[in-house]
Amino acid sequence: MAELGKAVIIIGDGMGDWPVSELQDLTPAEAAVKPNLDRLAREGESGMLDPIAPGVRAGSDTAHMAMLGFDPYKYYTGRGPFEALGIGMDVQRGDVCFRVNFATVDSDLRITDRRAGRISSGTDQLAAALNGLQHDGCTFLFKESVAHRAALIIRGEGLGPFVSDADPHAEGELPHEAHGADPASQRTAEMVNWFVKKSYEILKDHPVNKARETEGKNPANIAMPRGAGGAPDLPPFAESYGFTGAMVVEVGLVKGIGKYLDMDVIDVPEASGDLNTDEIAMAKAVVDALQRHPFVLCNLKSPDVAGHDFNAKAKVETVEKLDRLVGYVMDHAGDNTYIAVTADHSTPVAVGDHTGEPVPLSIWGPHMRTDNVSQYGERPCATGSLGRITGKDLMKLLTSLAMRQKKFGA
Ligand code: ZN
Ligand code: ZN
Repeated sequence: MAELGKAVIIIGDGMGDWPVSELQDLTPAEAAVKPNLDRLAREGESGMLDPIAPGVRAGSDTAHMAMLGFDPYKYYTGRGPFEALGIGMDVQRGDVCFRVNFATVDSDLRITDRRAGRISSGTDQLAAALNGLQHDGCTFLFKESVAHRAALIIRGEGLGPFVSDADPHAEGELPHEAHGADPASQRTAEMVNWFVKKSYEILKDHPVNKARETEGKNPANIAMPRGAGGAPDLPPFAESYGFTGAMVVEVGLVKGIGKYLDMDVIDVPEASGDLNTDEIAMAKAVVDALQRHPFVLCNLKSPDVAGHDFNAKAKVETVEKLDRLVGYVMDHAGDNTYIAVTADHSTPVAVGDHTGEPVPLSIWGPHMRTDNVSQYGERPCATGSLGRITGKDLMKLLTSLAMRQKKFGA
């Protein structure tokens, strides 16, 4: 039996894309200068990966669950619990969690700015004013996240997670009345509707907002919950695989998945989640985590940010960032480490949102058969020996290469 190996999955968030005319009909990944990714493809094996299944427009959370080998159709109820746990809230069984925007409303409660002027300070004080409210046997736990974002947990007996959004996702509209899909979820919906009105009463005269109005800024005078979900009942990663795993990722949503899986979620202070993030600090954290864990998942967020911003040039630069990250890990991870580089979905700059095409995948390591692919990217990888696989196949390929999989059968 060969020696046990290690494995790393490095994900360029939303890196998949379409040919872009301003890039001479190359995709951003194809157009980027990326010597390390090209070497990885040349010396490894490549293919295309459908993060969830062919044609499914994946979210970052559901795609990461699938790529870690946990069926999102079984475990996923909504985005809220990942966000809440990811920003350090204590999520308990039976809780219903929401993502929240601080927004601006006029005196008729009509939304005039969904992001409250992209408020960047004082949200901790606004959150503190909402945290701990009680109503009809329920407690409302509230915490700020980055910028205008926050998370809400409703805790109490008999709550259900299947609740529509209060956030209308559009300006000029009133908050939507939340509805529940069953009696328990209807009770949650009634709590949400109470909370939305209460948040306006508390926030409209809050000193942080009074100061914002004096400065001509939009006040963050209402909290808009969306993405309801119950705490997912995920099994611990180490129990599922027989070895431990770590995460080096930037955003709360993906961190939340790692925390539910009891993975070692490593904070990298230099990882900002935007176009200026320090990719080498992240790469160092990956290499360091490999000293303690046989498996590490790393997610670089910025390709998705550039995709949502419709910015082809910036997206090319984020792939070049990813290339430096991957190169550092290839050089420092040590012998007998397998590295897979892929994306969790496509976020084409022509669309500004996630689409359902497969994404490129290359796997590199000491014992690869290799194939004829010599460059990383959508069309080069489509000719590779891995063919077209789905996210749930990825851990199987890696645990097999690393000799960490039990034999199926005799
Ligand atoms: Zn994503
Ligand atoms: Zn995205």
